[in-house]
Amino acid sequence: MLKTILVTGGAGFIGGCFVRQMLGHSTYRVITLDKLTYAGVRESIPEDSDRHVFVHGDIGDVDLIKKLLAEYSPFAVVNFAAESHVDRSIDGPREFVETNVLKTFDLLNTTYHWWKDLAEDEKEKFRFLHVSTDEVYGSADDGSQFKETTPYAPNSPYSASKAASDFFVRAMHHTFGFPTLTTNCSNNYGPYQFPEKLIPLMVLNALAGKPLPVYGDGMNIRDWLYVEDHCSAIATVLEKGRLGETYNVGGNSERTNIDIVHIICDSLDAITPLESGKSRRELITFVKDRPGHDRRYAIDCSKLSSELGWEPQETLETGMEKTIRWYLDNTDWLEVVKAKHDSSVRLGQGDQA
Ligand code: NAD
Repeated sequence: MLKTILVTGGAGFIGGCFVRQMLGHSTYRVITLDKLTYAGVRESIPEDSDRHVFVHGDIGDVDLIKKLLAEYSPFAVVNFAAESHVDRSIDGPREFVETNVLKTFDLLNTTYHWWKDLAEDEKEKFRFLHVSTDEVYGSADDGSQFKETTPYAPNSPYSASKAASDFFVRAMHHTFGFPTLTTNCSNNYGPYQFPEKLIPLMVLNALAGKPLPVYGDGMNIRDWLYVEDHCSAIATVLEKGRLGETYNVGGNSERTNIDIVHIICDSLDAITPLESGKSRRELITFVKDRPGHDRRYAIDCSKLSSELGWEPQETLETGMEKTIRWYLDNTDWLEVVKAKHDSSVRLGQGDQA
């Protein structure tokens, strides 16, 4: 019998990867719920079939959530739906509060009320997994790494909104015994990422020989994880995680932003040199820093490896090579994204979160 999973935000970058991975196992049926905001791309995930149903809708639509839960009886809800772009949260924080806090609470609360009336054996099997970020911990300027016990200190409206949702997930478990799990992951990269984020933006600009805008001095440090490794970590936590716990997820790959841009420039120069023969590094232009820009994110994910046995499969080098190749080979996907959302693609800025 198929196991049904409800994936919210499944037409986004990471949710889409998770949907594709789950559909790769013949034992799963996936219900993807996505509002298709500027960041959601229906073409990123498979067509509807007997194992995949796409629902265009909002996690804040309580009646729709009730209907989906009643109709499909999922054994898990995995919540990826969010506003995810730090720059946008600085321009307009309110939408981040609406989606990442209020609507996420609606999803959580509606699912809890459905769950509490299930038969005992169904109740035991159910999991609500909330996908969150390491940015809730603030900036690790003192050289330490974030642990699950590190106090939250969010610095951007985006991370503040994610922190708030993490706390509601925690409270629903603590107060009502709702079976929740939370993952806090570092920066993801890989195929199908909306081209406003650092890596796809730099690849596209570098290919076109356009300027490569880098915030500040380019020395902000992030830990990078290939998106498929993030999704395998989520699947591991879903399967083996202890209820009510949070798990940090990371790639053990801290790099400065300028290092990342250098890798992209050098890889593209090797694959497809510019006609001028110039190095793409010459396209780098340093631009005014983002306000409140966290200097360093660094994550300790030893709890996930030692307790649940998860390890990333890709190094930064192998993951970047796959990613760059993917963008070179999938210009049709990029055309779809650009054609639909040209005004939303903030080329020239780039989220260097
Ligand atoms: P994304 O912006 O690519 O995708 C978000 C998806 O959510 C989109 O498909 C969008 O249409 C959908 N969505 C937004 N509001 C919705 C609503 N009200 N109802 C239904 N769907 C809605 O984001 P992403 O990079 O794939 O991130 C997914 C999750 O992972 C987010 O919760 C984010 O906070 C978290 N996260 C991201 C990263 C990263 O590096 N990108 C790292 C750690 C954690």
